Amino acid sequence: MSTQSTILQPTIPQRIEAISKAIESLPSSQEVTLVAVSKTQTSEAIRMAYQAGIRHYGENYLQEALTKQIHLSDLEIVWHFIGPIQSNKTQLIAQHFDWVESVDREKIATRLSEARITSGKTPLSVCIQVNISHEESKSGVAEGDILGLAKVISQCGGLVLRGLMTIPDPTLNETELRVQFKKMKNWFDQLQYLYPTVDTLSMGMTHDYLVAIEEGATLVRIGTGIFGVREKNK
Ligand SMILES: *Cc1c(COP(=O)(O)O)cnc(C)c1O
Repeated sequence: MSTQSTILQPTIPQRIEAISKAIESLPSSQEVTLVAVSKTQTSEAIRMAYQAGIRHYGENYLQEALTKQIHLSDLEIVWHFIGPIQSNKTQLIAQHFDWVESVDREKIATRLSEARITSGKTPLSVCIQVNISHEESKSGVAEGDILGLAKVISQCGGLVLRGLMTIPDPTLNETELRVQFKKMKNWFDQLQYLYPTVDTLSMGMTHDYLVAIEEGATLVRIGTGIFGVREKNK
């Protein structure tokens, strides 16, 4: 192990500054929310990013997130749930998150809504996750199911439909990726026309956030770009 390479790693605030500058230097005019994806990262790392100005954090695993939320309860963090959702976890997710970006079926939407209403909190912001590159293994609705699920969500008293989220096939080249992002932007525009609460197109991660913003993303989810490479096992 080389200690020198450890020393030369940029710090979390330096990484955040570089990303913010790169986003600002794009000609795109829409406002972009930077969500720091903190799965497998410590509460201390989140605190550092918070001190550097990041307020939105994305987590994929419920138990891990709940533990960090307790340690970080003195901070004003906006928590996004971005992982696959099992129906037996909907109650805790609805109580402990501000956003759920990974809604991909009716049953999950209605359960989140009921739990949110019971909790007495203001409606939960949700995005529909779309499987835009038709990957067999991926979660997310097919394009043909977006409008149906949007209608269900719009009728759920505990939810507010904010938009769409996607994770494209990581093996696509830039040209192919832009095609997928453009399809998402089209659906987003349609949805915004139908539902005035829609304002969020969540696409773009560490390796493609600049391309995603150029194609219309209003929210990017960046993990390794902010915190460095994740440990394989927590
Ligand atoms: C892990 C994850 C990210 C962040 O990925 P990076 O490549 O580390 O930026 C974004 N979105 C979702 C849904 C994730 O699970």
